[in-house]
Amino acid sequence: MAGLYVHIPFCRHKCAYCDFYSGPLRGFAPEAYAEALRRELDARSIADSYSSVYIGGGTPSTMPSALLAPFFSLSGGERTIEVNPEDVSAQTADQWLRAGANRVSMGVQSLIDSELIAVGRHHSAAQAVEAFRTLRRAGFENISLDLIYGLPGQTPQTWRQSLEGLLNLAPEHLSAYSLSYEPGTLLHTRLMTGKIQETDEDDVVEMYETLCALTRQAGFEHYEISNFALPGLESKHNSSYWDSTPYLGLGPGAHSFDGNMRSFNPPNLPAYMKNPAEVFQIDSETEVERHNDTVMTALRTARGLSPALLTDKELQYAKKHLTTTPEGNFRIAEPDWLISDTLILPLLR
Ligand code: SF4
Repeated sequence: MAGLYVHIPFCRHKCAYCDFYSGPLRGFAPEAYAEALRRELDARSIADSYSSVYIGGGTPSTMPSALLAPFFSLSGGERTIEVNPEDVSAQTADQWLRAGANRVSMGVQSLIDSELIAVGRHHSAAQAVEAFRTLRRAGFENISLDLIYGLPGQTPQTWRQSLEGLLNLAPEHLSAYSLSYEPGTLLHTRLMTGKIQETDEDDVVEMYETLCALTRQAGFEHYEISNFALPGLESKHNSSYWDSTPYLGLGPGAHSFDGNMRSFNPPNLPAYMKNPAEVFQIDSETEVERHNDTVMTALRTARGLSPALLTDKELQYAKKHLTTTPEGNFRIAEPDWLISDTLILPLLR
């Protein structure tokens, strides 16, 4: 089975850390964009039905839910919508459910108001908590929350506070990312001009350790470098990316993999609107690039990397620096995931 990803490249405001392809909603007709997505789907569909549908962005909660329903109807499995807390109300939550979503991924990032303001989020901590409760009351039984550590002004104590606050809500899934300063973002400019400073490395290590400890206590499994789930509630959609399952990505900036070849839609909305079915470009990967991709992706998961993919020399390295799973794969031990790049590098060809 294949996964379907639908990209909604609109955001009401740009968050200071974000380098995803998204732009303002102003002056844009959601119906026209949904129609372009449907044209692309008609031309490029790789299955009659999909194992999962993930509508991400950007901010899908900026779109009328009725326009998203046709995409959700293509799967009987996991159907996720990404939302921002300020878009959640009893009414919108109910509309997303009716449109076919059975899982919500909500960007919270922090439960400290000053940290939210520092990165340009447009909701308060209290609003995020209330949004979670609203989603639950509406009937969502599978909710994932996103958090970031290493934010400007964040300390190990405030990080713990955010984490405890979110775990108290009892979500099914958490994604926790270490902040990276991507060129082109407002935060990167502020860093370069000395207006903010990167979080001390020891503090980041402490935050990561707190994250691993508190999620474990709460019964979560750390199944991917940035992802934690209650048993059986891993994101099926994201896991398919890590498993090399085929997926179709619709919308500007979306990536696809048909089982053999990777392709991507250039992040260019005007070009996409003109010709949504044909803007995609084949990503002509060499065999070495494909191997390196597999190694990097597998070693970001708890399932790890099959030894069958390694040469004798690489096996020696893996035995020395990695740990093994009960299935006999190599994986990076949880405490070492923070330095995963350094550990993976010698296995890249
Ligand atoms: S983090 Fe999400 S809401 Fe913020 S700009 Fe990026 S895609 Fe939009």
